[in-house]
Amino acid sequence: MHSDDPLAELVALLGRLPGIGERTATRLAYFVLSEDAAYAHALSGSLAALHERVRRCASCGNFTSSDRCRICTDARRDGAILCVVARVPDLVAIERAGNYRGRYHVLHALLAPLDGMSADRIDIAALAQRIRDEDVREVVLATPLSVEGEATALYVAQSLRSLPVRISRIASGIPHGGELEFADQVTLGRAFEGRKDL
Ligand SMILES: [Zn+2]
Repeated sequence: MHSDDPLAELVALLGRLPGIGERTATRLAYFVLSEDAAYAHALSGSLAALHERVRRCASCGNFTSSDRCRICTDARRDGAILCVVARVPDLVAIERAGNYRGRYHVLHALLAPLDGMSADRIDIAALAQRIRDEDVREVVLATPLSVEGEATALYVAQSLRSLPVRISRIASGIPHGGELEFADQVTLGRAFEGRKDL
């Protein structure tokens, strides 16, 4: 995209970001222009290198700039408990709540049969392998409390049934269609404490 109106081009690009309407995009574009050029260069450099610098953790799927993420390499984390989330922002929300000390497994997918997200998009084999290799004793399913999140949790629970592991589901009470990232810390903490066996 290269137009002869650089500001309009920037507004259009910023406007594609979630939660940014045209008015906010316009305000942001004029802000960047009002700062010195070094800021715009730093911002564009950071954006340009993002896909090269950030990759998925080889163990859990969290975003990281090295082979394994800081949670997987932190020896103080409890490796016997694994929290399964759909997306990295859900992991970030649980970390922000601050009372979970186990490790994670990010599916990067949710079952949504109507949208063509079928079960083969969920890598159960990798999860089962981790449970065996890392001697995991409990799997907490923290997919969203939405229709897709519940379907995914059920599918994962059924697929792991043959393994000697406790499988639990976070409790309800999370608002906004079950999106973890919008839940406050107290609600998210309670959802964890109130988890039920599946
Ligand atoms: Zn990791």
